[in-house]
Amino acid sequence: MHYADLVIEGNIYTMDESKPFARSVAIKGDRIIFVGDNANDMIGKETIVVNAEGKSVLPGFIDTHVHFVGTAISRFDDLDVFGIPSISEILEAIKRVKKPEGQWIRVRGFDDSMVAEQRYPTRWELDSVAPKNPVIVKRLDGHSCVVNSLALDSIGIGPEMRGVDIDEHGRITGILRAEANEVARRSSEYEATKEEILRKLFDVSYEALRSGITTIHALEGSTGDVSQVKLLMDAKLPLDFVIYFQTTDVREAIALNLPRIGGCILVDGSMDSHTAAMFEPYNDKRDSRGVLYFRDDELKDFVLNAHKSGLQIAMHAIGDAAIEQLLDAYEYALSEYPREDHRHRIEHAEVPTEDQIRRMAKLGIGVAVQPPFLYYWDMEKFYIKRLGPERAMRLHPYRRMLEMGARLAGGSDSPVTPMNPIIGIHAAVNHPVKGNSIELHDALRLYTRDAAFFSFEERRKGSITEGKVADLVILSDDIFKIRLTELNKVKVETVVKNGKIFR
Ligand SMILES: [Zn+2]
Ligand SMILES: [Zn+2]
Repeated sequence: MHYADLVIEGNIYTMDESKPFARSVAIKGDRIIFVGDNANDMIGKETIVVNAEGKSVLPGFIDTHVHFVGTAISRFDDLDVFGIPSISEILEAIKRVKKPEGQWIRVRGFDDSMVAEQRYPTRWELDSVAPKNPVIVKRLDGHSCVVNSLALDSIGIGPEMRGVDIDEHGRITGILRAEANEVARRSSEYEATKEEILRKLFDVSYEALRSGITTIHALEGSTGDVSQVKLLMDAKLPLDFVIYFQTTDVREAIALNLPRIGGCILVDGSMDSHTAAMFEPYNDKRDSRGVLYFRDDELKDFVLNAHKSGLQIAMHAIGDAAIEQLLDAYEYALSEYPREDHRHRIEHAEVPTEDQIRRMAKLGIGVAVQPPFLYYWDMEKFYIKRLGPERAMRLHPYRRMLEMGARLAGGSDSPVTPMNPIIGIHAAVNHPVKGNSIELHDALRLYTRDAAFFSFEERRKGSITEGKVADLVILSDDIFKIRLTELNKVKVETVVKNGKIFR
């Protein structure tokens, strides 16, 4: 019995260098059994044949940076305003949310740099559209929020609390940062049961599959809090997970038998809040170079300890000063305990210097990049404003990184941006800094073959190769034929996970 269960015919871009293009792929069970010109003699009575003529067939996408449980929990919010271009439209949308009097209206995905008004809404504006409900509008990066008057009353936030914004008349504006932000977020949180969270985990799994994602690197939990990691390990979800526990206690990761540790463990903060650590001051805040959250010796200790224990490490470093500190720690650990094929990672690495790129390549440090940031945040209004025109040229220097031999893989940082590799591929090819853009083929590698390498799975997935797991996507267009500026319009039509058609 050599008949295949499934045969797909069309333009098959395998991402396998030894056979980059094929016309036919045959699948049996959960494996790819044939890749070549035609699989006619494998088509039996029971074989499903999918004609993908004029479309493109690719390996299933891998998103290497997702906060998956956080993404699921964010779905308890009533409204997502990500991408709504003005405060007036956001207020209209809040007005349309119908909830019983007195119940929280939770709004997520706000970013003042993305709206036409370039500011936060005020509590009075929120009062005007939702006078009978406490409202919280949460900023995307998690570091601030705005609440209305009812919310202020119900949380019990007064002007004395740290992070409460006061206007020139001494009134609370509703914008909350620091401690006040944390208190407001906590008090407004929907108290979900474990079953409710589990249901949302399934919902967002299907969302991911519909975007063509068949494997997710999930960065979960925090030091001392294993609950989200356990939840994900035990949930039997319909796609694959590579789990990172965001703890600095190496024993906690080892206790769970995880071969890796870290994730968005913050070496520095974010550019949004001027906390990403830079060598030079911010262009729009000359007294600030951001924040390093570890002392040099603390970071070295953690990295050395995790490295010595044989773990793969991932840490969040955005600014050049943070990248430097982390590279120093990796370099130190690798010189003390040399280890081949460690595959340690830096998450984000948004503005590395030329010298740092050279060191990443030399040390074999993988860079987990998020091209969608370039798509959603404006070059002028955000990046150049923060970094100044010269330094902004170093933003996400994908081309230079690849030229110098650094390894890259792509991700969304969901819930920061939606899990959508097509947008990431579009953004890497249509980079706002022309010299930093990469070829389409290389952009596809970020979400397939090279992403599989990041989790030591390059022999099992990441390309359409005989013997590999049958994870594939069929896209609406032949992506090598359409205009590069229109890649974002491409739709994921069909997803095959473990040999089964998802849709
Ligand atoms: Zn991060
Ligand atoms: Zn993250």
